[in-house]
Amino acid sequence: MNIEELQSKFRGHLIQQGDPDFDQERKVWNGYIDKHPALIAQCSGTADVIDAVSFARKNDIEVSVRGGGHNVAGSAVCDGGMVIDLSKMHGIHVDASRKLARVQGGATWGDLDRETQVFGLAAPGGVVSTTGVAGLTLGGGLGWLRKKHGLSCDNLRSVEIVTADGTLLTASQNENEDLFWALRGGGGNFGIVTSFEFNLHEVGPTVMMCAVMYAIENAEKVLSTWMNFMTSSPDEISSQALFWAIPDIEDFPEDARGKHVIAITAMYVGDSDEGEKAFEKIRNIDTPVIDLSGKIPYTAAQSMFDPFFPKHERNYYFKSQDLASLNKETRGAIIEGAKKRPVDSMLLAIWHYGGKMNRIGSKDSAFGSRDTTFLLSVDSIWDDPGDSEEVISWSRDFLDTMKRFSGDGMYVNFSGFGEEGEDLVQLAYGNNYDRLSEIKTKYDPDNFFHYNQNIKPCS
Ligand code: FAD
Repeated sequence: MNIEELQSKFRGHLIQQGDPDFDQERKVWNGYIDKHPALIAQCSGTADVIDAVSFARKNDIEVSVRGGGHNVAGSAVCDGGMVIDLSKMHGIHVDASRKLARVQGGATWGDLDRETQVFGLAAPGGVVSTTGVAGLTLGGGLGWLRKKHGLSCDNLRSVEIVTADGTLLTASQNENEDLFWALRGGGGNFGIVTSFEFNLHEVGPTVMMCAVMYAIENAEKVLSTWMNFMTSSPDEISSQALFWAIPDIEDFPEDARGKHVIAITAMYVGDSDEGEKAFEKIRNIDTPVIDLSGKIPYTAAQSMFDPFFPKHERNYYFKSQDLASLNKETRGAIIEGAKKRPVDSMLLAIWHYGGKMNRIGSKDSAFGSRDTTFLLSVDSIWDDPGDSEEVISWSRDFLDTMKRFSGDGMYVNFSGFGEEGEDLVQLAYGNNYDRLSEIKTKYDPDNFFHYNQNIKPCS
């Protein structure tokens, strides 16, 4: 690849095979995936992004786009082509008086929480702080504030985006409205977002977190109580139930390590004393194996899962499906599956939806699952590469057996390795798929941005 033309104006860093930092920079967050691009274009600003897109178009080079780099399918990095890498573009500007933040396309949620919490503000993000703002928001964005303030994408005010012809556009409710609709859930299909503008909310700085773990033997009692509690809970409470095995590390009491548990994790977004009272019921379902609940800084809550998801080290396969309900039969099948996980470090997570995220109409943005109440996600994490085949095929088989309990969709940001291709993307967007495909045709008719959960242009 002759990069001289691009090099003459590029202000960021161009890294090619053979450069000393190439092997480090080509790594994807998921240790299971190994890719070899020809070029990594680490952009320093919007001009670099425009030039990288134009260079790739002119020379017919395949591209992938990296924001936070977390995508489990490794879609941030392509084989043989060019990675347009925004990870050095993580600047943030907070306008505290107007409760707005402008965030560059390579920032992580940790970067954004740091800047907003100084003012007691937050934008709804995810539950792991090292995840990229870009990929998470463009696919929807499920986090602790989802019931009170909606998904990450619901809190977008505008975006700046470089489209496939190298043009910089603004998309908002008043400008390029069709594109703005598509970007709120439609993923990286429409261009490279160089900056996001978010509405912010008053959150914290201290929040009440619930993190109580019960023996898996009591799972039916815990899960049914949690389900009833959540379906009548106020918007202040967002929660997940997790099947997990307590790791053998010093952070946990010795007698609890290795135990298989169902953990109820939740945040109360409001007065923390009220939160403490609100969580009494779910903290006293049975005798807990451990209860780590307490009042903590919002930024600590946002990063409490980080240690379990280190980059480049562990292997990951996350895949999800909406549940039609969490009735007794469904609960039984999940509990049965949880007990048969081939590797202890695998997680089964049940996300409760509802509140603000479900009050937004299913046609008001591209996000496809506004009518869902529970999402089942198989979050497979393993350390021994020798376990890969068994873990991945178990995860797929388990979700296949759960199809009889599934709702109409799934979450595009938890989509395994995207192995079902277009079928999976159609499932994720449901009735919104055709409109997304029309908007794709308008802004990216040649499907230049296809290294993603791909929405195809109309043929
Ligand atoms: P990347 O791998 O950098 O990007 C993924 C894709 O997004 C790219 O292939 C590209 O198509 C697109 N993209 C990235 N940057 C841009 C950009 N600037 N412009 C246009 N397109 C871009 N999801 C949740 O909703 N809630 C969670 O709590 C949550 N927790 C997670 C925890 C872990 C440990 C992991 C691995 C994932 C989690 N996810 C969660 C899923 C997460 O939303 C997706 O993996 C998402 O793709 C990550 O975004 P990224 O920018 O880090 O990823």
